[in-house]
Amino acid sequence: MSGAGTGVRYVSTRAGDGAVPGASDTSGTVDFREALLRGLAPDGGLYVPTGFPHLPAEWRTARSPAELGGTLLRAWLGDALPEGELDAILADAFDFPVPLVSLGGNDFVLELFHGPTLAFKDFGARFQARALDALLARTGGRLTVLVATSGDTGSAVAAGFAGRERVDVVLLYPRGRVSPMQERQLTVARPGVSSFAVEGNFDDCQRLVKAALGDPELAGRGLTSANSINVGRFLPQQVYYLWALLSLERDHGVSAAPRVIVPSGNLGNLTAGLYATLLPGGPAGVRFVAAHNANDYFPRWLARAAEAFDYPATVATASNAMDVGAPSNFERLEHLARSGVPLRELVTGAGVSDAATLQRIAATHGERGYLPCPHTAVGLEALARLRAAGADGPALVLATAHPAKFPEVLERALPGSAPVAASLEELRDMPVKVSGLPPDPAALREVLLKA
Ligand SMILES: *Cc1c(COP(=O)(O)O)cnc(C)c1O
Repeated sequence: MSGAGTGVRYVSTRAGDGAVPGASDTSGTVDFREALLRGLAPDGGLYVPTGFPHLPAEWRTARSPAELGGTLLRAWLGDALPEGELDAILADAFDFPVPLVSLGGNDFVLELFHGPTLAFKDFGARFQARALDALLARTGGRLTVLVATSGDTGSAVAAGFAGRERVDVVLLYPRGRVSPMQERQLTVARPGVSSFAVEGNFDDCQRLVKAALGDPELAGRGLTSANSINVGRFLPQQVYYLWALLSLERDHGVSAAPRVIVPSGNLGNLTAGLYATLLPGGPAGVRFVAAHNANDYFPRWLARAAEAFDYPATVATASNAMDVGAPSNFERLEHLARSGVPLRELVTGAGVSDAATLQRIAATHGERGYLPCPHTAVGLEALARLRAAGADGPALVLATAHPAKFPEVLERALPGSAPVAASLEELRDMPVKVSGLPPDPAALREVLLKA
């Protein structure tokens, strides 16, 4: 547990008991600043908290996500960011609405896509950009942020860091495996941002980032990550889980703990939700559903039908931002389970095919008058299965992206339904800049050494 005022400390998932394959030396614990700057622990593991901080009761009276974030993140960070600075960062980062929409009955959708790049990744990326900038302003120096993206993280990070002096961004996305609209968002020319289309899948991109972060030849080049391997992601993403519970009670009169359905790929979002509900003083009784597409390793692991680290190849699906064969954050979840958290009681899984996803888009539009993005539809299909199995308590699905980002999929599901979003239309006329990259750590090393 952390000492008063100094904030929670972090340790590598691979430190200590050696239960994780590939575990090497035992690294010590680090504070928020070091975990944020490093991205990945030196032994290749992910940073996890050494304990959960107490959440002060005042979280229940917060009037905005930014205010709630102040209470929550002060508990986690101590004085790592001075109070006034933290509040300013949150007010600036969380300056868009987070509506909880009723679909009728006990079914709700929490819309996380009202940020500038229209996906929930804006929460993590905007907080992380501002927090890094604040830390670098104090210590001096520059950083290069490496981002592997399955579609949405990259643009959120590029937009989040835009105009920040001390940081360059390098985006890696799998060529041909993001939606055309996402690709446009990823490749619009921005100062300080370089985009690479990798000849491979998202897992290849993720491997390249991990290899670069651990590459002795690149040590001292000021590299960090902005994927959900970075603590800068799960910390701010906890905020909207708590905000959803407040909204459920205040706006809809529902005080029973809901089931929260999380459309999942790399499992960073689910990890944040679990952490938020494990905090002493936080909400009790919340349960989760990890809703995956055909890349359903984690649901199978939960059902004891897959061994830890027995990862299958990635499959391309209609919910491409969740096309992750080897979810990074599984290592954090596995660590929770090893620490005694009853993961299989708190979380159930669902694996949803593309056919069921497309049908769910059409059905939700027809029956509820609501048009979800393909990722949100995977969550809505998991909800429909729960209802069919007789579960009747309150449930909320996280709506992870705006449907206008995926017009091709919506057109397949429901011809003529594809909505437009003004902020995306503006991109059509902007210049793009992108280079190709083989899925080879040496090629990325060369790029980074030249930069
Ligand atoms: C990233 C993403 C997901 C998956 O989130 P994880 O934290 O990787 O599990 C789901 N939906 C959308 C739209 C995304 O961009």
